[in-house]
Amino acid sequence: MNEQKIEEIYNMIVEYYNKFLKVQNVKLPNLKIKGKYTKDALTLIYLAQDYPNTKTISKSELTRFIQQYYPDVNDVQQARHLGAQKGWYIGSGTRNDNISTLNPGDYKLISLEVAYPGFTGQKRIENVTGDFWEDLKRAYNYRCATCGSKEGEPNYNWPETITKLQKGHMDPNKPLEEGNIIPQCEKCNRADRNYWVYDSKGRVVKIANAKVIDNCSLDIQKQIYERLAKKFKTKNKKSDQD
Ligand SMILES: [Zn+2]
Repeated sequence: MNEQKIEEIYNMIVEYYNKFLKVQNVKLPNLKIKGKYTKDALTLIYLAQDYPNTKTISKSELTRFIQQYYPDVNDVQQARHLGAQKGWYIGSGTRNDNISTLNPGDYKLISLEVAYPGFTGQKRIENVTGDFWEDLKRAYNYRCATCGSKEGEPNYNWPETITKLQKGHMDPNKPLEEGNIIPQCEKCNRADRNYWVYDSKGRVVKIANAKVIDNCSLDIQKQIYERLAKKFKTKNKKSDQD
């Protein structure tokens, strides 16, 4: 693929993006950064060839293409990230997303008009520009995502404490970076919060540390034990036979 073709396909993608995908919070990769094509753009361009009659592309084929610009790359993850994290509707045979014709390791660009199913784009975060942390706080109306206490005002539950918002992990097992941050007051952003995974609304949605089981009642511990015993029993039996 020559430079002209790359630009041509990228421009087509931008056209669709502006018309359909921008409002769905899909993230458009830069064509170039510091004069160099980005891996994301190259991946998208390769998958978008002959759109809407796109072909199924194997990961190795895609890798060979990216290697023309990034010779050191040997495991291209871009197609997966473009779908799950950036919202492009790229079918993946590995992801088991019910696009039945795809084999494991195969990708196919399905649409430039519809975002990846289930992709929300975290609109409150992504639509803001400029300083990330200030914008994030503004998106939350300067309130703690968990308890709602407002920055500079007395904490709801500890009125003698003036609220100061901190960067709280959504998932403490992942890095504290854009997409994994909610503003929390110092009362909600305590060390023991590392037991939990929060959603963007500051609600606990998962356990982040198995130790939390130790704090549960014996009855709950027993229920968990039984569930897990049931879940892993079949697996163990199988490996015993191997
Ligand atoms: Zn709070």
